Amino acid sequence: MTDKPAATILYIEDDPASRSLVERTLKFAGYRVLLAERGLEGIDLARRERPDLILTDINLPDISGRDVTATLRADDRFDTTPIVALTAQTMDEFRTLALGAGVNGYLTKPIDIETLADSIKRYLEGARDTVDESALAAAKEQYVDDVVTRLEQQVRDLQVMNENLLRLDKMKDTFIQVTAHELRTPLTLVFGYSRLIEEAPDIKSLIAGDDNLATLMKGLQDSIKRMQNIINEILTVSRIITNQIDLSITTVSPGHLMESAMSNFTDGLKQRRLTMTMDAIGWPERIRADGELLAMVFNNLLSNAIKYTPDGGQITITAIQQDSNCIIRIQDTGIGIAPADLVKIFESFHTTGDYMLHSTSKTAFRGGGIGLGLAVVRGVAEAHGGSIRAESTGHNPENPPGSTFILTLPLIAHPRRARKLA
Ligand code: ADP
Repeated sequence: MTDKPAATILYIEDDPASRSLVERTLKFAGYRVLLAERGLEGIDLARRERPDLILTDINLPDISGRDVTATLRADDRFDTTPIVALTAQTMDEFRTLALGAGVNGYLTKPIDIETLADSIKRYLEGARDTVDESALAAAKEQYVDDVVTRLEQQVRDLQVMNENLLRLDKMKDTFIQVTAHELRTPLTLVFGYSRLIEEAPDIKSLIAGDDNLATLMKGLQDSIKRMQNIINEILTVSRIITNQIDLSITTVSPGHLMESAMSNFTDGLKQRRLTMTMDAIGWPERIRADGELLAMVFNNLLSNAIKYTPDGGQITITAIQQDSNCIIRIQDTGIGIAPADLVKIFESFHTTGDYMLHSTSKTAFRGGGIGLGLAVVRGVAEAHGGSIRAESTGHNPENPPGSTFILTLPLIAHPRRARKLA
């Protein structure tokens, strides 16, 4: 003869002392015990484990034991599962309220360990506390009223919270925009002054005779340019975020713009032994677009292809004209992108690498960045009425599968308000 499997009891209780006392008592009586500290956690556990009986405290940190009961009772799978309240609320009124929400029985604290196991056994066998029918009907009505009142309050609270979040979000956008703006002016001055110093006759002759000084001057100016690039990127993103991106549309040659973007990376490509080739056939001669913003988009896509491709790799750029679109593909032999990240990478400030490895270098392998490059690409593409997407079979730095970025631009931009960035 095989033993019947032990019945499973789920106990929902936030007080650790009660939890441990009930657990020990019921385990000692031969039951399998599951524990949850919160109401919603208890509901999830009940749905997963389908216990034979649910014992719940009434005052829980998130939703009440009555809500737990009403929620489970609304689920066909728990129509007949005994649910028992175990609570310090001893007044009759509370008992009736709990019964109104659908509990089978009501046990009070302090827990009587002598009788607890017997009581649980009775409820498992179908026992049900009785209560005056009219009091039960009134309790049910009151429970529904309570739920509606609470819901109304929660909707009001959510509305206030939502307004606050929108206000904070706007403040954040303004803060980013104002800060980037304010930084740009002094930085332009710093750059100008550094050029003036470099050009001053005394300094010029000093630099000419001192290689170290020449390297320092170059380092200074390169760093300023990098900062200017970051600030421009932030300003573009914030223009997209605040829907202030106004395209300045002219006739441009996308192929020439791409060649010019490629020329920015000649040194970096050489250092990293990377090959970047562009197939000149297939590009539409001219398109109507914002040339400055497109240059930024091409720069970002090329610098990413370089950053995420190991030394010695290959980057291939092609374009075709299809219907009324120009479709540009930038394919690399880099570390690739995990399927879960293929869409997320276009969100602002989303980086898949370690943020602490942040570097503004546009060519160092896995140099990392602040995660704005692709947000700008998407914002600008969409503002033109185009799109951007990435293809990759996965992320694997050891055996790089490569990635392809596909930029679709209408031959004649039909400016669309940029969508709000995530
Ligand atoms: P970042 O400044 O971090 O480069 P981006 O917005 O340009 O920010 O890119 C977001 C993330 O997308 C990067 O952190 C990187 O993980 C991933 N990514 C972008 N381009 C590539 C690529 N060509 N190959 C692999 N991963 C890429």
